[in-house]
Amino acid sequence: MNILLLGSGGREHALAWKIAASPLLTKLWCAPGNAGIAREAECVAVDITDHAAVIGFCKTNKVDFVVVGPETPLVAGVVDDLAAAGIKAFGPGKAAAQLEGSKGFTKVLCTEFDIPTGAYGRFTSADDALAYLRAQGAPIVVKADGLAAGKGVVVAMTLAEAEAAIAMMFDGAFGAAGTEVVIEEFLEGREISFFALCDGETAIPLASAQDHKRVFDHDEGPNTGGMGAYSPTPFVTPEIHDQIMARIILPTVSGMKARGTPFRGVLYAGVMLTAKGPKLFEYNVRFGDPETQVHMLRMMSDIVPALLAACDGQLRNFDLRWFPDPALTVVMAANGYPGNYAKGTRIDGLDDAATIEGVEIFHAGTIARDGAILANGGRVLNVCAMGKTVREAQSRAYAAVDRIKWPEGFCRRDIAWQALEQG
Ligand code: AMP
Repeated sequence: MNILLLGSGGREHALAWKIAASPLLTKLWCAPGNAGIAREAECVAVDITDHAAVIGFCKTNKVDFVVVGPETPLVAGVVDDLAAAGIKAFGPGKAAAQLEGSKGFTKVLCTEFDIPTGAYGRFTSADDALAYLRAQGAPIVVKADGLAAGKGVVVAMTLAEAEAAIAMMFDGAFGAAGTEVVIEEFLEGREISFFALCDGETAIPLASAQDHKRVFDHDEGPNTGGMGAYSPTPFVTPEIHDQIMARIILPTVSGMKARGTPFRGVLYAGVMLTAKGPKLFEYNVRFGDPETQVHMLRMMSDIVPALLAACDGQLRNFDLRWFPDPALTVVMAANGYPGNYAKGTRIDGLDDAATIEGVEIFHAGTIARDGAILANGGRVLNVCAMGKTVREAQSRAYAAVDRIKWPEGFCRRDIAWQALEQG
């Protein structure tokens, strides 16, 4: 089978690594890819925002199956356009991708199908938003409705912060994504992520995984795309798992089907474990980044039939298996991230680091030039490891980090601290 993977981050390197291990694979391409993905796939300079170009590439190269990594092409409808051209693709169509593409859409779905979430209001005018805000008081959460590269959420602890967020969004800080704003109740509790593979009718949960959003140790500093992750996590107990499946994931899947827009792909729920039970605060419609890096290490089953079954409505009898050993990933980012950072700095020692037992290094933002690997983004490397325990996985990953020679990069030193503290 010929497969084209879309994307260029650490998530896509992990997916490429796993797809490349499938006996079903004949040839794998990745558009646009990165220097690490190039070890698993032929990277091609196809512009993935140009759907006609993607379709043209698939036709020329007899691509049987397209796997879409990031949310932007999903929300732009690349899966529908590929389907119209007779090409099978993994991921939701444009209508179902609204679960990530519009926060207001998800809130309305929650109301319609009685899915637990925070109270909210949707606004297209700053005056109405401010009036609602003042009636509710702080703390409160202000969200740009559309995709804002992970930056469209302001958790405001004071009214002044919330007012500033509303002004910023209606002033166009996020362009079209901010022409509508959702104001949501502040939910208190432990934040967890929950992932399920869906085929429009059935949902199979993935192994539990937890990321670390804040840039510095002890969960301090600004939010990022994710500085590390581990799997499994002790916080999704069997009871919480069953509550999330029964009250959040399955009603979403059946609600989307009832609306005529079935969800096929990975449903990634942001859930707060509140005193009143799990509550949904957001959906993403794709694999996590960096959670995929640990998911792929732990996935025992061949991923290709699983992705095909999700596309074909065949997950009901699918047996998705996981290795019991924990996995952990440490993100190495360019100094300054998530603010300004330099590109083009040289990274050495990767091959040496990868010789440590259980270690796998996925590239997030790298390019190869004249035989050297150069940083080419904010989040640059995912140094991953498996071990018999979370502690062993952690010490292997940091041993590998210590062999990587990249003075212009940094990482958190405490990935999985909550799990280790729990014992
Ligand atoms: P996002 O950028 O969409 O991942 O959201 C950023 C962060 O905002 C989430 O990871 C949560 O920590 C936080 N957040 C979003 N919604 C709420 C809420 N209703 N209550 C408390 N925190 C929230």
